[in-house]
Amino acid sequence: MLEASRIYFTKAADALELSPLVRNILLTPFRIVKVELVIEGDDGGLLHFMGYRVQHNRARGPLKGGLRYHPSVDEDEATALASLMTWKTAVVDVPFGGAKGGINCDPSKLSVRELNALTRQFVERIKDVIGPTLDIPAPDVNTDGRIMGWIMDEYSKYAGFSPGVVTGKPLQLFGSPGREEATGRGVMITLDEVLAAQKRTMAGTTVALQGFGNVGSHAARLIAERGAKIVAVGDHAGGVANAKGLDVAALAAFVREHRTVKGFPGGEAFAGAEVLAWDADVLIPAALGDVLTRENAEKVKARIVIEGANAPTTPEADEILRRKGVTIAPDILANAGGVTVSYFEWVQNIQQFRWSLERVNEELERHMRRAFAGVAEVARERKVDPRTAALMLAIRRVGEATLARQALSQTIRF
Ligand code: NAD
Repeated sequence: MLEASRIYFTKAADALELSPLVRNILLTPFRIVKVELVIEGDDGGLLHFMGYRVQHNRARGPLKGGLRYHPSVDEDEATALASLMTWKTAVVDVPFGGAKGGINCDPSKLSVRELNALTRQFVERIKDVIGPTLDIPAPDVNTDGRIMGWIMDEYSKYAGFSPGVVTGKPLQLFGSPGREEATGRGVMITLDEVLAAQKRTMAGTTVALQGFGNVGSHAARLIAERGAKIVAVGDHAGGVANAKGLDVAALAAFVREHRTVKGFPGGEAFAGAEVLAWDADVLIPAALGDVLTRENAEKVKARIVIEGANAPTTPEADEILRRKGVTIAPDILANAGGVTVSYFEWVQNIQQFRWSLERVNEELERHMRRAFAGVAEVARERKVDPRTAALMLAIRRVGEATLARQALSQTIRF
């Protein structure tokens, strides 16, 4: 994933004709924190984990990015995802830099008490480098509002009442209306824009999704509400398909109980990974990274890919898909709704003033559509694909802010 993020960056940096020095400055993380975590398990034994926080670039504001609890978490993955956050916050033009982190663990094997103790110890170990004006974590894979609430509570023990240290919190702990569904809503708006650019609408469009967690489930619901048909959903355990369109609300209720779409009675079962090659107009990867690869990209039948997940497409797959004429809405645009509403949550926390859901959704829509238009303009003017265009826009904004902080102004053409 780290290699892939560098390949995409280099393509955009080449188009911008950036010098090797500026490339190096923009690629190098500002700070990498790695901590050991030891907690007492419920059985009285010790449990041992590693936690990470990679802070990539803070030129445009405090660092911002999710915390992931997953066995794949390591320094390289966090570094790649931290740089994506730098570019994502710049594409939607919210005043943050980029960071990412998490704990290398399998949370399904931990009790609530163990998860709570692990989270609190992680906060204790990284408390000096996070904070409302320093670095503001958020939910990501296998972390949610409840864990964000614990983080706020633990951090506030050291720093005093600090709701702005973390976003994606529950409503009763100073979260924002609309934050939970914000990434899915942004995915829906992105699909709407892509379809509009092709003079099509949601009505009758068929959609296949990989992942039915926070991003996938809300995206599916909002897209179905606008008349598209969710024909297949795959996850870590299996898949379910219905050519007439799955009942998304019933599927969400099923997943809340069973933690997977496997076994949902409202459709036919299939092996989860097959969803990537599903015969649908649109494919939305909304699970893990590196899922569209050299091996399976040729088999993708969808003509539109909306990257709900971070880094789902390897550079080889990206090339194959573009050659096949597939339109790809890149992660740093398509899933930026979450960080956008995280920004609104942070603003509300700092102002101690709550916005209405209508205001949140209106502002989100404005940010997403403006970002889409900005990326489309660069793509048109520079004759590049949307991913390269989004990165060019972001690199220009981050590069200008980075250099403007230096005493010597450098003449660099962005
Ligand atoms: P989540 O934990 O709520 O859901 C993850 C989903 O992925 C689940 O449905 C799970 O079954 C599925 N999954 C896990 N392993 C899988 C596998 N091997 N094969 C198929 N499916 C698998 O996570 P989320 O918050 O919805 O995040 C999903 C993706 O979206 C991640 O890439 C994340 O970085 C990205 N993202 C999330 C947000 C956010 O606000 N939550 C914002 C931007 C990007």
